[in-house]
Amino acid sequence: MNGARLIDGKAASARVLAEVREEAEALRANGIHPALAVVLVGNDPASQVYVRNKVMRAEECGIRSFEHRLPPATDEATLLDLIAGLNTAAEVHGILVQLPLPAHIDEQRVLQAIDPLKDVDGFHSENVGGLSQGRDVLTPCTPSGCMRLLRDACGDLRGKHAVVIGRSNIVGKPMAALLLQADCSVTVLHSRSRDLPALCRQADIVIAAVGKPRLIGSSWLKPGAVVIDVGINRIDEDGRSKLVGDVDFDSAVAMASAITPVPGGVGPMTIAYLMKNTLAAARLQNPAPANQSEQTACLSLS
Ligand code: NAD
Repeated sequence: MNGARLIDGKAASARVLAEVREEAEALRANGIHPALAVVLVGNDPASQVYVRNKVMRAEECGIRSFEHRLPPATDEATLLDLIAGLNTAAEVHGILVQLPLPAHIDEQRVLQAIDPLKDVDGFHSENVGGLSQGRDVLTPCTPSGCMRLLRDACGDLRGKHAVVIGRSNIVGKPMAALLLQADCSVTVLHSRSRDLPALCRQADIVIAAVGKPRLIGSSWLKPGAVVIDVGINRIDEDGRSKLVGDVDFDSAVAMASAITPVPGGVGPMTIAYLMKNTLAAARLQNPAPANQSEQTACLSLS
């Protein structure tokens, strides 16, 4: 590797998970056993793997998990009934509905049915609105994980120019909101933006969340830029299937000062922040007495 420092997402996620284990233990000592309910509808193989990993990680961190696997033909009303029950179940602190849902179910209606205080994905419009107002709410896991990697890599983010490529509700938009909250100057680029490489070259920080293999090469980067690659793309190359990011790593590494690899960069942070959000949700539902100053620190998700 030529110059750029590798931002190691596996090591960073191990640090986050160690914090989670410690915080979960402290909660249990106070009689709160943090718990995550994971809901999967259908038999999508990738979703099954994601759910298994989330449940496994939760158990490792001392977070109880409740798995709800529903058949592909489950109707929306049944799913909404299940969510209503989980919303009122005192022993459940976080609710995660694995996406995508089968086509006959209205994803938005389901996400809106989750109690915002249990919305560990941060997709409920109350949490989306809260994030855009700069309130301390549950925020989407992948962008939260990126912020942690950035803070570890750059320290103070104030005044830095961040370019986010991609404007999805789950990555690009919340990422831009979190960067703004950290006092960055933020530019969001998307499929209709013009002259992307020139705009991207102005960035101190580049967040790539596009879903296009190796779109961003060295000619898109200012020397010394910090590059966070959210993209996960499966391609066939040299007769085998492999995962690559949205950044052309081999080219970008020569120009960047620090860069995440794919795999082993942002990916492991997403699940770690799901665990962190579950604890934050447990604390939101069990606020400590107002005179405990620790409460504010515990609720902070960053
Ligand atoms: P999405 O398809 O919902 O959004 C892609 C965005 O990229 C859109 O806003 C679109 O405007 C923009 N875009 C598309 N083509 C473009 C182009 N040529 N130039 C500029 N912008 C363009 O995708 P998403 O859900 O935001 O995910 C993006 C990538 O991140 C995917 O590869 C996905 O697999 C990955 N992802 C990774 C994690 C993780 O944990 N690491 C989590 C979520 C998503």
